[in-house]
Amino acid sequence: MYRKNLALVAHDHKKKDLIEWVQFNKERLSRHRLVCTGTTGRMVEEATGITVTALKSGPLGGDQQMGALIAEGKIDMLIFFWDPMQPQPHDVDIKALLRISSLYNIPTACNRSTADFLISSTLFDSSYIPAPESFDDYLTRPL
Ligand code: PGA
Repeated sequence: MYRKNLALVAHDHKKKDLIEWVQFNKERLSRHRLVCTGTTGRMVEEATGITVTALKSGPLGGDQQMGALIAEGKIDMLIFFWDPMQPQPHDVDIKALLRISSLYNIPTACNRSTADFLISSTLFDSSYIPAPESFDDYLTRPL
């Protein structure tokens, strides 16, 4: 059993979905460390009793804090239920977070079915170091 740092974020219309998913998977999730944006974190704690590390609320910089943690190698997986039907004031931060998770090759679920696949994986509770991108490739690539 390897204790992972799991990042959880949900937009307002997706919070109910995420909370249901967290409650359903409470036992498995409670063996790991949870890092959440502010409001999501408060709701996860209330719904499950699991203590989380809460960052700032997403629109106030929480997504950027999450991205910085990924860049520092401190997050193993991102569960991000973003809302495809509503414009968000912090749209650029959301895009940046998704870009960073892709760049650092972090397993990322943007909806519940993908989150189900991730949590059902045999790799979920074991150590898994994502192969890093070769940044050299970008630097040496001809323009
Ligand atoms: P919240 O932020 O958890 O503080 O609502 C999520 C987001 O909007 O990115």
